Amino acid sequence: MPPRPLSGPAGPVRAPAVRRHNLGLLLAALRRAPSSRAALATGTGLTRGTVASLLDPLVARGVLEEGPPTRSGVGRPGRPLGYAGSGPVVVGTSVEVDGLVACVVGLDGTVVRRLQRRRDHRSLPAEMVFGPAARDVGALCERSDRRVVGAGLAVPAQITGAGPDVEVLRAPNLPLLAGCRPGELFAPTGRRPVVVGNEASLGALAHLGEVTDFVYVSAGVGIGGGIVTGGRVLPGARGLAGEIGHVVVERAGRACGCGGTGCVEQYAGLPALLADAGADDLPALRSAVRAGEPGALAALDRAGTALGVALASVLNVVDLPTVVLGGSYAHLGDRLAPVVRDEVRRRRPAAGPDVEVRVSGHGRPATALGTARAVLDRVLDDPDLLLAG
Ligand SMILES: [Zn+2]
Repeated sequence: MPPRPLSGPAGPVRAPAVRRHNLGLLLAALRRAPSSRAALATGTGLTRGTVASLLDPLVARGVLEEGPPTRSGVGRPGRPLGYAGSGPVVVGTSVEVDGLVACVVGLDGTVVRRLQRRRDHRSLPAEMVFGPAARDVGALCERSDRRVVGAGLAVPAQITGAGPDVEVLRAPNLPLLAGCRPGELFAPTGRRPVVVGNEASLGALAHLGEVTDFVYVSAGVGIGGGIVTGGRVLPGARGLAGEIGHVVVERAGRACGCGGTGCVEQYAGLPALLADAGADDLPALRSAVRAGEPGALAALDRAGTALGVALASVLNVVDLPTVVLGGSYAHLGDRLAPVVRDEVRRRRPAAGPDVEVRVSGHGRPATALGTARAVLDRVLDDPDLLLAG
């Protein structure tokens, strides 16, 4: 059943909340497709007058625009409303262990501009990580020449807290970030980001629409994960759910940065995989795999098997039908996905045949895209942000 509009005795306190809720419904409908005021009224159960009073200020502000008239049935032709091609944008940024990825996205989800930059953040203090990142992303926003109504930031770290005030608990690959508050250090548009989160949890969001119930597993220097049910990322009690990289596959195995031993990250993470394959970096490994070099193929198969063992355990607990392989895995997916799939199916005979292992179509930019999506959700949930600034 679609969300219902709010109405009733709208007192002075309740009225703004009712307005925000109803405007949110309309903006969500427009995110799916442009639509006339009359069709929006029918679709949401609001009166035409209410639809006009809620949306006309956004037309005046350049957030929405009217398309050419279209005739459907009898009566006056309708003019569909949609997000303005030159209207506001949001920006999603992924600060990674070895680089920076950002994308500027329109309110309809169209990517307007992208940035991808290599930068080794490993030995840098928090100010030196987030300050330059904010300057680069600020310059990207300026080049887009559109009003930026919200920014979001993804970090490869375990974080605690909620909203923009989160604090980095641990960042095994960026140890100097521990204890910092990224939201206070990263202000690309002069304002604090409205969303700050873990990279894999936000990366998972880039895949909503294609799938709604899935485990997202993303390889970079570490392995991140996000568990998504009903279109929402499971945060866990302290925001630490989804740490798939530290699922144990060898009880007395290799030492891990988390303090444990035998974590899957030590067998299927990118550094472990490259070392096993004797490749310097991901492009070298991809070339070796394409050339059919037996050593590279065998290393990839071993990593895929380890990942499959870990994912079988995860799926035994959460019983989700789909795994999405992202990050560096997306660039090795042709060979990796079948190995992971076979291992998962072998270890879950009851549910195994139904499990689908797919490869992310976004690759590395997934995290920045998912972060932009989280900002969009936040902005459209609080439409006053569209009128501010
Ligand atoms: Zn570990």
